[in-house]
Amino acid sequence: MTTPATSLGHPRFGGHRELKKALESYWGGKSAAGDLLTTAADLRRRHWTTMKAKGLTHVPCNDFSLYDHVLDMAVCLGVVPERYQSLRDPLERYFAMARGHQDGQRGLDLAALEMTKWFDTNYHYIVPELEVGQRFALDATKLLAELEEARNLQLEPRPVLLGPLSFLLLSKHAPHAPKDASTLALLDAVLPVYEQLLAVLAARDVSWVQLDEPCLVLDLSPGARAAYEQGLRRLSQLRQRPRLLLATYFGELGANLSLATGSGFEALHVDLVRAPSQLDAVLRSLPATMGLSVGVVDGRNVWRTDLDAAHQLVRRAVRKLGADRVLVAPSCSLLHVPEDLDNERKLDPEVKSWLSFANQKLDEVRALANASEEDAPTAEDFTRARAAIAVRRASPRTRNATVRTRMRTVDASMSRRAAPFHERARRHHERLRLPVLPTTTIGSFPQTSDVRGARAAWRAGHMSAAEYDTFLKEETRRCIQKQEAIGLDVLVHGEFERNDMVEYFGEQLDGFVFTENGWVQSYGSRCVKPPLLYGDVARPRSMTVAWSTYAQSLTPLPVKGMLTGPVTILQWSFVRDDQPRGETCQQIALALRDEVQDLEAAGISIIQVDEPAIREGLPLRRQDWKEYLRWAVDAFKVATSGVRDETQIHTHMCYSEFGEILDDIARMDADVLSIETSRSKLELLVDFAHFKYPNEIGPGVYDIHSPRVPSREEMVDLLEKARSVLPASQLWVNPDCGLKTRGWPEVEAALTHMVAAAKVMRERLEGASRPRSE
Ligand code: GLN
Ligand code: ZN
Repeated sequence: MTTPATSLGHPRFGGHRELKKALESYWGGKSAAGDLLTTAADLRRRHWTTMKAKGLTHVPCNDFSLYDHVLDMAVCLGVVPERYQSLRDPLERYFAMARGHQDGQRGLDLAALEMTKWFDTNYHYIVPELEVGQRFALDATKLLAELEEARNLQLEPRPVLLGPLSFLLLSKHAPHAPKDASTLALLDAVLPVYEQLLAVLAARDVSWVQLDEPCLVLDLSPGARAAYEQGLRRLSQLRQRPRLLLATYFGELGANLSLATGSGFEALHVDLVRAPSQLDAVLRSLPATMGLSVGVVDGRNVWRTDLDAAHQLVRRAVRKLGADRVLVAPSCSLLHVPEDLDNERKLDPEVKSWLSFANQKLDEVRALANASEEDAPTAEDFTRARAAIAVRRASPRTRNATVRTRMRTVDASMSRRAAPFHERARRHHERLRLPVLPTTTIGSFPQTSDVRGARAAWRAGHMSAAEYDTFLKEETRRCIQKQEAIGLDVLVHGEFERNDMVEYFGEQLDGFVFTENGWVQSYGSRCVKPPLLYGDVARPRSMTVAWSTYAQSLTPLPVKGMLTGPVTILQWSFVRDDQPRGETCQQIALALRDEVQDLEAAGISIIQVDEPAIREGLPLRRQDWKEYLRWAVDAFKVATSGVRDETQIHTHMCYSEFGEILDDIARMDADVLSIETSRSKLELLVDFAHFKYPNEIGPGVYDIHSPRVPSREEMVDLLEKARSVLPASQLWVNPDCGLKTRGWPEVEAALTHMVAAAKVMRERLEGASRPRSE
């Protein structure tokens, strides 16, 4: 019997983002629900057909999602907060939870559920919201429909479910719940629904279910460990159920290994790309009743697999367990890599030969499974992989001698501002003369279809570079005018020239290449096309100075220079795997340092270096944090410390639980930090207050991930809340994040309310400081 080749999940969008187009057309009222559902079904059929053609035997199903698989699991378990229940149409309700819902006629104004990063990826999931006494009820509509579809293709699908422990650990209690309520207390309530679901699947003769428990690679509290022990065992003891594969990924099981091997499940999947060294421990403790799915092809990166190295791992497993107890798989779902390298027509052929996207990874998995009983594989896949890897190792294109020399000159003086913050702040106030609670935005303004259309026309050669430049200048000018009219205090140029905050820089730096269709899902219909960082990074010329100085020439108000930080560029790219990430990050930081200095020299008084990804870059295990934070914070400081004291450095971060890394954020020493907080109703700010965060801070006062326009009063309330924990003199007023995904009417309305809210606050502050006798 040969070893089966499997996959844990497939990219959802289609190689040309078909799902995105269908979703947005449906949301925009331009097509019917039926059209969306047809596109989705076509995509699933295509993915399954591909997997079947490539010889995969355990083919995932229910990994597809119209928005997010965690939200799907919430719906499957009946976790639909009461406020959405007035929406009777299931699809409308589903998208209301994901994106919010405003309907003036029906008097509905529903905010979306919270959204947060999926582990250390750039994928965002919807955080299920649980009541303290939450009741669960099975709704398997989606799962069963997809199961049928797969079976109609003569496939034996393996349904993918987010397991009960990870589901609870990734969920959150509704805001009114007591602070100390633990979602794990709901385990006894949720397990019967999982049991019911497994029984339903057993009744339909499903032979395997993949139960994803990625939380098993995290540091778990004793309570969580006990819950795992109890929960997994209880599921395994169910009488009528399919065989269960317990899927773990993104790291090492470590101390949680015994929870997995003691689960009583029929198979375990482990990530041997992130943690190859765990194989021995896993093999040692795997019970005879358990099979092993070895994740040996990187589901998180795009480099061609070193098949010989992966083969060694497969062989070790097969030698110990026998070929029939082993499955070969990617390390995790392929959701995090682009779909198909064959869609790339323009990639540099040498670099292309170093790559592998989802469909190619399936071939690699198949090749490894085929060779599971050979000691020295000679199949063509192996010989081709060997050749490509040898070329990559020897290629002079990955090394730049000037960059290497400069890296050796980096010392502590390069990562320190000259004066301490309070001294710098005094100079900023003198120079900028801003009111208390200054208003600003995070950088981008709406990328309308006009803007995207012009860029596409220019890229396709239908618009000349000069025409495109004129177009962008006109957009920038209008944007400056609008900001002045709205009454903002610190302006931005609008970032119309940028397609994406990382791609824009990658395109101008050496060491990157770009794909045409290398899309990966970020959240909902949003996809990103991460640059491929394959070689040493250098900056041949300035990247943003012309735009910033042009915008500044149009207004007497300060215009912020806008850069993407080194950690974010690293984090949102597919990064070379042939040197430590910290080294690559330092190279980016040096390039940005030159840009920051050029902006300052061109007269820009405020420079924002966005680091939205610094928190998500944190390793999943605490023991690895220190090392990461050392080089990550250092890189930010190298990039931003080359300026004079009177230059104000801003940074921006999104979606983060900063609580535990406040020390490090303070160490970054940005003069002003803006953060995403509005969805969590400023909860985060309390941490900053307790920490006595010393520098200035702009808590986001409205959620830009939804088209909903918040009222002035809502924002006043948030600002009052902010002021109750931090002095007004320390606060800025801004939206949560950049506005590029929004439309102008809602942006203008929301920012007008925001500026009005700041004004209300300033009046209140003045009133409060005026002597009583007056
Ligand atoms: N300056 C960027 C923008 O406004 C920041 C976006 C982000 O942090 N994600 O688009
Ligand atoms: Zn942001």
